[in-house]
Amino acid sequence: MSLCPRISLKPEVTEYLKSVFLNKEVLAAVGHQEAESRFQKLLTCLTHPPSYTCVRASTHLASLDEIKHKLGEELRNQMCSSSAEQVSLQILPHPQIPDVLLLPVYGPRSVKQLVSEVVVGAQCGSAVLRGAHVFAPGIIASPKYMKAGDVVSVFSDLEGKCTRGATSFQGKRVFVGNGVAEMDRSSIFCKNEPPKGIGVRMVEPLYQSPPFDGVLPNLVFLQNLPSVVAGHVLGPRPGERILDMCAAPGGKTCHIAALMGDQGEVVALDRIRNKIDRINQNAQILNLRSIKAFHFNSTRAVSTDPTQKTEGPPFPPESFDRVLLDAPCSGLGQRPNMANTWSLKEICSYQPLQRKLFHAAVRLLKRGGVLVYSTCTVTLAENEEQVAWALDTFPCLRLQPQEPHIGAEGMLGAGLSPEQLRLLQRFRPELSWDETEMTAPLPCRASRDTIGFFIAKFLKN
Ligand code: SAM
Repeated sequence: MSLCPRISLKPEVTEYLKSVFLNKEVLAAVGHQEAESRFQKLLTCLTHPPSYTCVRASTHLASLDEIKHKLGEELRNQMCSSSAEQVSLQILPHPQIPDVLLLPVYGPRSVKQLVSEVVVGAQCGSAVLRGAHVFAPGIIASPKYMKAGDVVSVFSDLEGKCTRGATSFQGKRVFVGNGVAEMDRSSIFCKNEPPKGIGVRMVEPLYQSPPFDGVLPNLVFLQNLPSVVAGHVLGPRPGERILDMCAAPGGKTCHIAALMGDQGEVVALDRIRNKIDRINQNAQILNLRSIKAFHFNSTRAVSTDPTQKTEGPPFPPESFDRVLLDAPCSGLGQRPNMANTWSLKEICSYQPLQRKLFHAAVRLLKRGGVLVYSTCTVTLAENEEQVAWALDTFPCLRLQPQEPHIGAEGMLGAGLSPEQLRLLQRFRPELSWDETEMTAPLPCRASRDTIGFFIAKFLKN
């Protein structure tokens, strides 16, 4: 079995997405055949990883050239010491983004499946397709007598139906490559102690891309290209006070602090307590001291007592120069994603929460300040419709041009004008799956063949 041809969704969700991508405005602009073809390409490309791995370089600590050189050395050493088959190592700077390095992903390759099978959770399977090894907690099933050193085929359980500790699984699954077990089965499913470390070291992954675990942790940070773009679009400057409302695990928080040369203050909030540790760990690894992370529900981040001045939330209105609202969303732009078991109700549940967060964001922003709203999903309801609603609800907001603007413009269907759509940035991987685009020069393709993502930038008057 190779990779799924199309993402597996509940039929009601496929129908919903189809109605979004074949909405009246789109049909009038490009016609039924083209709209349908783009939609089918989207469903297909979501099951494949982007054709590049993107790392953000800590250019606040060293130059891009130095980091590129060190990364090359480190990855070559890693390749020499591993038994994985060798592939050529290419590291390219991004032509428009000064702190990004790109590494091509090779695949899908033809890999022969073996008799011994290990089954991993869908999240772990997606990480393997992006170059990771299998970490032991991700393993759900393994052969009964598996010993360290056994060569196994790894499968991803698409619907979360495999029972933990099973010895085989015949449900919906997809092959992600071959590897060598680093642990016996008994250590993986040990009742007393949760397993730690690599469970299966991938030697023949379906997609070849270097694993970044522990590679130059203070100099490179694995991050999707559109997420790096969002940090630049926010445009933080040294000395400013910035709010990152939904911050964990802190990828964008750390980028913002780095762009400010670690001068000023970046307040990072997240509603999930144990995720705050991740933000602090990342800040520490990247040597960033301007970050202050708090466990807090950002819908309540505006203080009702405007005279109150505390270091942490809630904050008085108009406390921040810039606000990033990287909103919790349905995540349908994530790649690779071979199956999503959510109901339509779950997919549609984010719009009201995003609006509550938006209300708080606008109140917390100073006049003359910048608000960036972003999601990693492809629906209109969480993207362009939110922009139309925000412009209607907050007359003080104006859409702003984005720099860099390497994605497509906003999608038709939410009643926004052509000028407004041009100011939005929607990363649409399906457009990079046209035959002409498949042969585009490498860095150009990297800008387009990304996860699905959306960015809007507003100025508060
Ligand atoms: N910005 C992050 C980054 O780049 O690493 C990713 C953020 S993720 C898209 C959304 C985050 O919002 C999750 O970590 C989730 O816990 C958090 N979240 C959800 N609801 C929230 C709320 N009401 N207040 C604060 N954080 C919230």
